[in-house]
Amino acid sequence: VKAEIIASGTELLLGQITDENTAYIANQLAILGLDLFYASIVGDNHERFAAVLSQALARSDIVIITGGLGPTKGDITREVIASVMHENMEVDPVLKQNISSHFSRMGVEMTQNNLKQATLIPSAVAVPNPLGTAPGWWVEKNEKLIISLPGPPGEMQPMWQSEVHPRLEKRGGAVIVSRILKTWGLSESKIDQLVGPFMGLPNPTLALYAKPDGIQLRITAKAPKRAEAEALILERENILRNILSANIWGTDDDTLHGLISKILIGQNRTLSVVESISGGLLSSALAGAPESSRFFKGGIVVTNESVRTAFGIVGDSGPSAPGDAAASRMAAVAREKFSSDIGIGIDGGLDKATGLSAGHAFISILFDSGPAVSQSYNWRPQQLNRRVVMHALYYLVKTLQSG
Ligand code: ATP
Repeated sequence: VKAEIIASGTELLLGQITDENTAYIANQLAILGLDLFYASIVGDNHERFAAVLSQALARSDIVIITGGLGPTKGDITREVIASVMHENMEVDPVLKQNISSHFSRMGVEMTQNNLKQATLIPSAVAVPNPLGTAPGWWVEKNEKLIISLPGPPGEMQPMWQSEVHPRLEKRGGAVIVSRILKTWGLSESKIDQLVGPFMGLPNPTLALYAKPDGIQLRITAKAPKRAEAEALILERENILRNILSANIWGTDDDTLHGLISKILIGQNRTLSVVESISGGLLSSALAGAPESSRFFKGGIVVTNESVRTAFGIVGDSGPSAPGDAAASRMAAVAREKFSSDIGIGIDGGLDKATGLSAGHAFISILFDSGPAVSQSYNWRPQQLNRRVVMHALYYLVKTLQSG
């Protein structure tokens, strides 16, 4: 079954409001397993709106329209549907009664133009709108279905949930299920090359998305039943995991700081941080994790030489310059100062004065047992902050996951 969306309203074309309805309905159609191949935006012009609707009816089985159901002359959705269906609009006595009692409850006089919100065409039944005056229309004719809903998302969405979803669900269709695999450390083009053979296949499909927390792979399967779609996904997921396992850190709604929180709370271990070039961003990410106070004891941001010396990171009792040894020392200082089980140190070069190239970063993690594990990287200076924090979180998750 092919569905299509038309968002109506000149405000949308002028950029005065952003179309939220299409994204909402597109998501809902996927849940129902209905195919969506086209979505359009059209202004409040009868001729162009009618042309868009006729085209939609020629290529799709279900057309969902939002907006244009208000009382004013600019609200033309009903008139457009009536003309495309070659039917006449008539005032429906029951709808008229509903609208006039709505106005008297509000203590507002009902004006003549509100009457058009009480109209129907012979092929239409009204879709109740408990939160507004304009009911929607459910129009079935010649094996095509038009669903017309009001524009305000606050009215449209509840109507979708209470009226549209249950009716469309009964018509059957397939179920679409997606799974996201989250990676870090490989470029989009590298992943594209590694999983290339699966990119063009129809079911399940595979798509790549670059996100701030790494490249995501979205596997999407379609089947008559949810269990069958899930089985298709699992089979493909296992193959992709074999290829990318070293770089996959999570799925679906997982976040790195959320995983750290879960693992450390589960192990009853605590963590603290001493960071320089990341300027407190790692502490901020960890402090924002769920139930962070149960595992994150705190962080220190060290900036200039005297503070580094005072904390024993450089100078007599530590290494002489920023770098790998200093990052390890910072991890140790974090553990000591906060009496935590795990310490993380982040150090590196933001400018030439540090003696390191700008963008050179060191991440060191010191666990309750054993020596510090550390890695060093060269990132573009503009990306350094974000990357070093992401990588520290990723490195910690991977190290914790490997036991
Ligand atoms: P009303 O009865 O309130 O006039 P309507 O069905 O006539 O509703 P429109 O007049 O097209 O709808 O739009 C009314 C308001 O609804 C817009 O000003 C805007 O705030 C919101 N709206 C309409 N369409 C959309 C959309 N696609 N995405 C987000 N908001 C929308």
